[in-house]
Amino acid sequence: MVAYENPWAAGPPPGEMTAVAPGVLWARLPLRLAIDHVNVWALRDGDGWTIVDTGMHAPATEEAWEGLFAGPLEGRPVIRVIVTHLHPDHVGMAGWLTKRFECELWMTELEYLAARDATVRRDEVFESSFREFFRAAGFTQDEVAQLRNSFASFGRYYHPLPEDYRRICDGEQITIGEHEWSVIIGSGHSPEHACLLNPALGLLISGDQVLQRISSNVSVFPTEPDGDPLNDWLNSLRKLKREVPEALKPRTIPVNGVQGQKTIEAVGTDAKRMLGRTPVMMTGAIFRAAGSNISPAGWCTCNCAPWAWASANMSCKRCQWRGLMMLV
Ligand SMILES: [Zn+2]
Repeated sequence: MVAYENPWAAGPPPGEMTAVAPGVLWARLPLRLAIDHVNVWALRDGDGWTIVDTGMHAPATEEAWEGLFAGPLEGRPVIRVIVTHLHPDHVGMAGWLTKRFECELWMTELEYLAARDATVRRDEVFESSFREFFRAAGFTQDEVAQLRNSFASFGRYYHPLPEDYRRICDGEQITIGEHEWSVIIGSGHSPEHACLLNPALGLLISGDQVLQRISSNVSVFPTEPDGDPLNDWLNSLRKLKREVPEALKPRTIPVNGVQGQKTIEAVGTDAKRMLGRTPVMMTGAIFRAAGSNISPAGWCTCNCAPWAWASANMSCKRCQWRGLMMLV
């Protein structure tokens, strides 16, 4: 595996933005989770900005955005919001931004529809369908109760989304200011995740599709209990490896605060090793599969874990089938 230098290892401090290329600013917005920030991007677009990803809906995020508008964004308007995928730390403030600036939301179709669905999750859905899924996956009554509470409150992390959006598609070229960005769609972490590649600048904004120090959360959801997102995710990483030009890889990006290329390389050379670095959420499933008494709290340090617990058990089966179950 090639070791790349990450020129932006430190990340921008709160309230500031780091220029990673001409007209490309990077900020971190706060999250009240074990992972304490999410990366967002402001791309200079004429007299204003195109924003990529938005943070989780919360007063602290709104305050952070207002500080960025008054500071490094120089009071210029947001003219477009692009969101990589449906998770609330990425799309949570999209409705707030598009409403405040009366601009369009650009997303892939499945991510937009799934985000809207996530905001209206109701107790009855859990009772009629999800409960059975989690019980079948081996969860105790208490664990299912915990999950139920998480599902019930999930919608609050999303500002209401706009009623309409502009769909983006795989391979599409988007002109943003003076630059052309290509859309590369992946899946596995979410259904139709958009990454943005700019070969001229040597940048890939990869959302959560690629991370460096951990692999993405790969979850089987109750809505598709026979899904195989792990296969989707591995195939998507291979696709990224093909489509990110070789010459640009040493300069490729901070992804969620870190440079992502190592992950792509690792998948290309050694999928088993890649899974060996898979986060604790999947590790937890393997504990469970082995009949361990380790509690859910011990599986994962991320507060969004309920989603992961659920899925990990199922993903684990996929790993077994492939002979890739090798953790712990
Ligand atoms: Zn995500």
